Amino acid sequence: MKYIGAHVSAAGGVSNAPLEANRIGAKAFALFTGSNTRWVSKAISKKEADAFKAYCEEFGYKPEVILPHDNFLINLGSPEIEKLEKSRKSFLDEMKRCEQLGLTLLNFHPGSHLNQIEEDKCLDLIAESLNMILDQTKGVTAVIESTAGQGSNLGHRFEHIAHIIDKVEDKSRVGVCVDTCHTYSAGYDLRSAEGYEETWKEFDRIIGLNYLKGLHINDDKRELGSRIDRHEEIGKGTLGLEFFSRLVNDPRFDNIPMILETPNPEIWPEEIALLYSLIKQ
Ligand SMILES: [Zn+2]
Ligand SMILES: [Zn+2]
Repeated sequence: MKYIGAHVSAAGGVSNAPLEANRIGAKAFALFTGSNTRWVSKAISKKEADAFKAYCEEFGYKPEVILPHDNFLINLGSPEIEKLEKSRKSFLDEMKRCEQLGLTLLNFHPGSHLNQIEEDKCLDLIAESLNMILDQTKGVTAVIESTAGQGSNLGHRFEHIAHIIDKVEDKSRVGVCVDTCHTYSAGYDLRSAEGYEETWKEFDRIIGLNYLKGLHINDDKRELGSRIDRHEEIGKGTLGLEFFSRLVNDPRFDNIPMILETPNPEIWPEEIALLYSLIKQ
């Protein structure tokens, strides 16, 4: 079974996210549990957390198909000690918020070396951050997102992700989310039939498909290997509809959240319906 949804708004309170997901016909969803542009977010009230859980129950959203996303300031591999500490504190809070909501996954961007430290050193710092934070939390898996490799962001090579996982002590609480736009921009040819098979084979060989906890399903405005992160509407970009048809018919991606972050939220109901229509019975 495919669980296709979108990164919905939680404006006005987290309990609005499952309501919004249900409204657009999503079977999975992503959300920010706090502000995505601040280090510290307002605590979630018990009332709000209870309402969130009640709506998830009512609309059938199990924790495995809800993929919260951390805020954009966090850099768990920061070479700047003050920023690193701030990031760790903020990510710990993000994990705790997930715990409070009964969620089991937290998606994050691995981190950036800011051209100040070696790639390997940055990856080690990310793993060290995860070890510290996983120690202080329970039940939530940290899900590393594949990136386009823009600027000094790491996570665009499967080897980067494998490096982090290798150094995480509790391997049962680390996972991966592949963003189709990012990974194509990073240079993995998901578009062609052969490239598609080759990419997932490589993912399995280097990381392991058992670590895959979710997908961000975005078309790409840019070319293969551009290293630029620009999402496009489904079927209108360089990946194209044939790729998405292949993806939604691939049994390897059953039972994990497949999340749209395409640029026009107004057409998410249509995009979700379109993706479901591509599934061959
Ligand atoms: Zn992301
Ligand atoms: Zn992106």
